[in-house]
Amino acid sequence: MPQPLSQQPARICILGGGFGGLYTALRLSQFPWESNSQSHQKPEIVLVDQSDRFLFSPLLYELLTGELQTWEIAPPFAEILQNTNIRFCQAAVSGIDIDHMHVHLHDGVDIACDRLVLALGGETPLDMVTGATSYAYPFRTITDAYRLEERLRILTQSNLDKIRIAIIGAGYSGVELACKLSDRLGEKGRFRLIEISDQILRTSPEFNREAAQKALDKRGIFLDLETKVESITQDNISLEYKNQIDTIPVDLVIWTAGNRVNQIVRNLPLKQNQRGQISTQPTLQVLDYPHIFALGDIADCQDAEGQQVPATAQSAFQQADYTAWNIWASLTNRPLLPFRYQHLGEMMALGIDNATLTGLGVKLDGNFAYLARRLAYLYRMPTLDHQLKVGFNWLARPIIEALSN
Ligand SMILES: Cc1cc2nc3c(=O)[nH]c(=O)nc-3n(C[C@H](O)[C@H](O)[C@H](O)COP(=O)(O)OP(=O)(O)OC[C@H]3O[C@@H](n4cnc5c(N)ncnc54)[C@H](O)[C@@H]3O)c2cc1C
Repeated sequence: MPQPLSQQPARICILGGGFGGLYTALRLSQFPWESNSQSHQKPEIVLVDQSDRFLFSPLLYELLTGELQTWEIAPPFAEILQNTNIRFCQAAVSGIDIDHMHVHLHDGVDIACDRLVLALGGETPLDMVTGATSYAYPFRTITDAYRLEERLRILTQSNLDKIRIAIIGAGYSGVELACKLSDRLGEKGRFRLIEISDQILRTSPEFNREAAQKALDKRGIFLDLETKVESITQDNISLEYKNQIDTIPVDLVIWTAGNRVNQIVRNLPLKQNQRGQISTQPTLQVLDYPHIFALGDIADCQDAEGQQVPATAQSAFQQADYTAWNIWASLTNRPLLPFRYQHLGEMMALGIDNATLTGLGVKLDGNFAYLARRLAYLYRMPTLDHQLKVGFNWLARPIIEALSN
């Protein structure tokens, strides 16, 4: 058991500033800490992330179509945290000593803490197929989006008649990306969506799957189901379908399949499931380590009702409230609450000006779904200040564009 950092306010160290980590930090900073009691003193909150920006990943596609700008979907932490008491530390975590509650950062700094939050998210596994690490483009971070943008710019400016793009994985990211890029490239784009299972969007409600299928058909996106990627080279992709391998020429391969826990987390001597996710109690405390909390994509959590919590932004966002509450409760001698996951439904962008959504008894597609999706995401953005800036821009932009035409 770690020794408390005596005579000092407790230090809470949050690793990862994504949907789990950033929202935990923001909630924690709003709690009523009692300033006159030594044990309930306002704690020091330290948020660590390797990036200088939070990324609202559900809107990452809109960067490639020019519908949204970087500042809207990836505001700098310095801006989000400016009116809070949260200390931001931009550094990559290189190791975690869970017995002594010490975090090691790449720049050599060590941070000791009284409560530790693990929210480092997932990564895209590119090393499962020969050539993928060298030639496939992942789509997860802002850097991935910039790299892809640069490649698309080069291809668009080349004298290619058609740009041949293979997208691996027909889950949410693959389908959404295929529709958005198809709308961006128009007649110049030729798309193949490659999926190992026998259907697209395996976990989606029927309504969304059908809307997505229609959107793919309308754009002439070719679907390869039950197809495995065998290898990727600079200008070819080899696909295995019913034990037969077919090699086809491509100009760009985008990899969206899979979600893996990073090596630092997998190296921790904590109970993990087969996918390397850390097992937690329903209170989001790590098994046998009540001062360590894990949430988001790296956590294997069954909630108070025993339902398995999916690895989505929606879950991480909800878990952040409970993590913050439970840390506050554990530092102020109050009872902890078990997490209760509420599935609010799912939304998907299906091209420019088109989306589908199912949830809370509503099924919607087309323009209205597109608008509802945008508004729901605006509401989920961090801090009122950022919501207002982005919301104002969404209202003002069409007017400015109309006036300048
Ligand atoms: C393109 C895309 C679209 C998506 N769309 C949806 C959607 O529509 N709806 C939905 O519910 N979910 C969606 N998701 C999934 C969702 O983004 C994740 O489930 C969610 O972000 C998980 O939150 P998290 O806090 O666990 O991790 P993340 O939000 O990924 O945050 C992890 C943070 O940790 C940081 N980090 C990682 N390693 C280190 C390190 N070693 N040192 C320091 N910092 C580190 C990262 O920089 C990152 O900021 C989408 C994902 C992607 C990639």
